[in-house]
Amino acid sequence: MTKWVYSFGGGRAEGRADMKNLLGGKGANLAEMSNLGIPVPPGFTISTEVCTYYYDNGEVYPDTLKTDVIEALAKVEETLGRTFGSIDDPLLVSVRSGARASMPGMMDTILNLGLNDLSVEGLAKCSNDPRFAYDSYRRFIQMYSNVVLGIDHHNFEEILEEAKDDKGVHLDTDLAAEDWKKVIVRYKSKVQDVLGRPFPQDVHEQLWGAIGAVFGSWMNQRAITYRRLHDIPGSWGTAVNVQAMVFGNMGDDCSTGVCFTRNPSTGDNEFYGEFLVNAQGEDVVAGIRTPQQITIEGKDAQNSTLPAMEECQQEVFKELNAIRHKLEAHYRDMQDMEFTVQQGRLWMLQTRTGKRTTKAALKIAVDMAREGLITRKEAIRRIDPASLDQLLHPTLDPKAPRTVLARGLPASPGAASGRVVFSAEDAENWVNIRKEKVILVRVETSPEDIGGMHVSEGILTTRGGMTSHAAVVARGMGTPCVAGAGEIRVDHAARQMKVAGQVLSEGDVITLDGSTGEVFLGAVPTIQPEMTGDFATLMEWVDTIRTLKIRANAETPQDAATARKFGAEGIGLCRTEHMFFDPRRIIAMREMILAETEEGRRAALAKLLPYQRQDFIELFEIMRGLPVTIRLLDPPLHEFLPHTDAEIAEVAKEAGVDPALIRARNITLHESNPMLGHRGCRLGITYPEIYEMQARAIFEAAVHVSRETGRSVVPEVMIPLVGARKELDLLKDAIDKEAQAVFAEQNYAVKYLVGTMIELPRAALMAGEIAETAAFFSFGTNDLTQTTFGMSRDDSGPFLEVYRARGIYERDPFASLDQAGVGELIRIAAERGRATRPGLKLGICGEHGGDPASISFCQSAGLDYVSCSPFRVPIARLAAAQAALGEGNSSGTA
Ligand code: ADP
Ligand code: MG
Ligand code: MG
Repeated sequence: MTKWVYSFGGGRAEGRADMKNLLGGKGANLAEMSNLGIPVPPGFTISTEVCTYYYDNGEVYPDTLKTDVIEALAKVEETLGRTFGSIDDPLLVSVRSGARASMPGMMDTILNLGLNDLSVEGLAKCSNDPRFAYDSYRRFIQMYSNVVLGIDHHNFEEILEEAKDDKGVHLDTDLAAEDWKKVIVRYKSKVQDVLGRPFPQDVHEQLWGAIGAVFGSWMNQRAITYRRLHDIPGSWGTAVNVQAMVFGNMGDDCSTGVCFTRNPSTGDNEFYGEFLVNAQGEDVVAGIRTPQQITIEGKDAQNSTLPAMEECQQEVFKELNAIRHKLEAHYRDMQDMEFTVQQGRLWMLQTRTGKRTTKAALKIAVDMAREGLITRKEAIRRIDPASLDQLLHPTLDPKAPRTVLARGLPASPGAASGRVVFSAEDAENWVNIRKEKVILVRVETSPEDIGGMHVSEGILTTRGGMTSHAAVVARGMGTPCVAGAGEIRVDHAARQMKVAGQVLSEGDVITLDGSTGEVFLGAVPTIQPEMTGDFATLMEWVDTIRTLKIRANAETPQDAATARKFGAEGIGLCRTEHMFFDPRRIIAMREMILAETEEGRRAALAKLLPYQRQDFIELFEIMRGLPVTIRLLDPPLHEFLPHTDAEIAEVAKEAGVDPALIRARNITLHESNPMLGHRGCRLGITYPEIYEMQARAIFEAAVHVSRETGRSVVPEVMIPLVGARKELDLLKDAIDKEAQAVFAEQNYAVKYLVGTMIELPRAALMAGEIAETAAFFSFGTNDLTQTTFGMSRDDSGPFLEVYRARGIYERDPFASLDQAGVGELIRIAAERGRATRPGLKLGICGEHGGDPASISFCQSAGLDYVSCSPFRVPIARLAAAQAALGEGNSSGTA
């Protein structure tokens, strides 16, 4: 018979940390903590298999579940000597959801379950604290009514506000037992009004109602959205944890809090956390009062006037700190923990691997490897290559002038500018429809805001701490966030915010610095990032592991310098046509295209030669002997032609021809399908003088730099869009002739290679023959994807979206390599090419060169290098190391 329910508490448990799939993260870790002898209130976990069963069987439970739950509940009663539903000394429980992957705030926890009109009196008597008992009961009615009965929060909040106003107090904690009793009467009649039936008094009805609500919430809209954004399958299901309550709301020796074994924002190895005295559950996160810091250090850092736990509850602090060390050593990773202190006694309610910023992730991984807690390989595996993107983005230029509007907490690092919007929905509209960048400004965020938070460049809240919803979610998304900027007043209805004597309306631009917590007016200029500290250290470790070389796609000296700075080992793709768009050059280029005769073309090309040579000189100098692959002219000629009347007139004057002639030439060159038209090596075949000029520029530059620096320069000349060996034979011949001519003139020779791009299916299939002439292959996976799928990237947007939604292609094949189809062609080409020429150098130079999953494929296909944009070089280095460790994601598109 299937075991549906797993007990924990009292120093032992039926589950373990590695049973997350079955027990959910929360349940598995509650079990693990129990086994470790850490104080955990006893309880039991209803497994995720029950959730799956429930949805597979028309929303009914397995037959034996009822009796299993009753048995497990009896164990809890026995451990604590209290009875569920007793009117003298009632056992109260929480009902908590918990999926395999942590889904913060996605599902609702119900606290204080088991209270009714009679048991609340028992609780008051045996706790000797009626205020606490009635406070707990009103909390329960409020939560249960909201989560299970679907009655909106505001109904209860209004009643509570009125009660506080009547008494002239501001804080919930200022209300006494008698006040709460009145609130409870009003709460219950509100439930009666809204539902037409009373608040349930039967504790078993309450329990099953709550369990059903947790399973039900697995399919609520915000859970579905979260799963979609994080690729979590709906089939995983959630577990339900039923756990004896401990109370942080029993007075001033009670509290509830959240803490991290290391600082989740900086990664520093310091205890970090917040707690709230005389409070319960989510009070800390909801920001109803300003929390206190756990450590004195933290208190000083936040300039808090409230005492730290380290000062005011020294015994509890010592115990919590010991648990911090124990859990971190046990899990060998930074933990995010939730706890409650009841009358001076500490109880742990949750531990999980803590979310962290990329900066913190790097610091923690490097520190832990140095501390000997993990190996360097584990450190490398722990960093998500894509997350490095955060650190490769610009930061605010410290020299740039700025106007500070407000300050809040540095909740998630990075700089972001954008137009202010005041709701998640507006954020999505501005981004998706108006194509603008936005900063989402909220009093505080809630799980309903996830979609809007996701599209925002930055998030700003006016309330809440470092562990508030906004802060936690923003850090997870890598989005800059400033939280709790209390000077800002948000007028949601008017879509305005007031701060520092200014009124900003929706659409006005602000800048956030999530690393300092500052908010600025307008867009503040940024500077390029540097790779230093832990980032640089991890990158050094990565380089000792990986076997794939990483090159960059670069043509300007600036890009080449950036690529070098980020550790590129050469240029894998220099697109020479990008060099022709400079205003001084485009004229000569146009003259060349317009020329009717070879002489005319040669005359124009002669004007381009010195420019082109200078470009290559600069690249070779920057790359200091590293390989530089130069692709000869690739795009269709009409891309260079003048289109406006003014441009046409200018070119006509320069070339000494009639503007009408240019218009006519424009028409002649028009192609109905340029992607498959007169481009690539087809230009080299029809106008040999173009490639001759480019080859000459390359060799003259190589000779020049080699001679000046004494360093070897080995240019790799690359012919695009080859489909037949004969094309390559003809062009290589011409290039070799040009090389010999230059070497003879200069009386100096350099080594060079001539190779080809593989970007047509025919080229991949004919690779065995082509390799007889080509010294290297570079897979141009952008074009290879277009030609393999027979679809143009620029036209694929509208239907690819539908294709993905309908599950035809799982991912955009232009972003992540289609390993099944395009990948097969790459494997064929690699195999056939190397059969002909064993040492054939193989690389990839499409967008895919910076995509971790595609890099993992390149490793398995035996490529020598990947080439990507300069800013993705560190991502590619890490992904290559993970691929070498066998850790890469190797799933394909189809
Ligand atoms: P989430 O998944 O949103 O973090 P939890 O199930 O962890 O939700 O519950 C939220 C908070 O409720 C916990 O951090 C804890 O403070 C409180 N809580 C949950 N169960 C108990 C309990 N048995 N006793 C006291 N407080 C509890
Ligand atoms: Mg929790
Ligand atoms: Mg191409």
